[in-house]
Amino acid sequence: MQIVTTIEELRSIVKWWRGEGHSVGLVPTMGFLHEGHKSLIVKAVSENDRVVVSDFVNPTQFGANEDLSTYPRDIERDGALCEEAGADVIFHPAPEEMYFEDNCTFVDMNRLTKGLCGKTRPTHFCGVCTVVSKLFNIVTPDRAYFGQKDAQQLAVIRRMVRDMNFNIEIVGCPIVREEDGLAMSSRNTYLSEKERKAALILHKSLTLGEELIQSGEKDAAKVRDAILKNMRTEPLARVDYVEIVDAENLEPVKRIEKPILAATAVYIGKTRLIDNFSCDPRN
Ligand code: AMP
Repeated sequence: MQIVTTIEELRSIVKWWRGEGHSVGLVPTMGFLHEGHKSLIVKAVSENDRVVVSDFVNPTQFGANEDLSTYPRDIERDGALCEEAGADVIFHPAPEEMYFEDNCTFVDMNRLTKGLCGKTRPTHFCGVCTVVSKLFNIVTPDRAYFGQKDAQQLAVIRRMVRDMNFNIEIVGCPIVREEDGLAMSSRNTYLSEKERKAALILHKSLTLGEELIQSGEKDAAKVRDAILKNMRTEPLARVDYVEIVDAENLEPVKRIEKPILAATAVYIGKTRLIDNFSCDPRN
């Protein structure tokens, strides 16, 4: 497995692979990899001849007061995990390699990105769409792999690929959790021992909502309120949002009759964590 830092070198490697008739999978990440990322890489390896994992803390998707400078990084450990998972290349560019100093072109959308995380992070998805478009243009993969953990991101990327005619199959992968239910996240390292325990409230509350839907509840407000009420039993949790939205267009729903996404963002101390479940009440 190779660590590549320049766009030019990565392009020449992909060109070589294409000459050999190989298919190419891409797994975009911000590094500090864990089992959640690994599940995406393993799936990509099983479905493509060659796999690129991008490992880049993308500055344009962080707001001014967010954790860009403190975001955890460990490229050596990431290299070992990628190797073990069977990836062929880690693309680990410097910010200057990815963005010209006078960069002035961005990819944005005026739906799907305004609600949920977009309310507190108004510039986030523009940064995501921009960097993912750039990675798509650099790697030209056949398939790209994204986690359901970032459900809004996955819906946004699917829409961008449709609208911009990227000839790339987007593969969504299930959320990987710790044994006690906490969704794996690079940001979990910010949590103190006490906060780590408190963070279980996200999955516990969502599970309660999911059970309500499974037992036949169709009123979205009732499910949302039950989730919220349970979240509020945890003193260290400050809820940013709990929303029940249409799984595809992310518009809020009143009745749970089509596939929905129930998503939440919660501050545990200073750490903002997200989690969600999706379900199709017709099944
Ligand atoms: P990140 O490095 O946080 O930007 O995540 C890179 C990719 O890994 C995204 O597509 C995430 O949705 C996915 N991912 C992160 N955590 C998990 C998890 N616990 N389970 C599944 N996928 C995940």
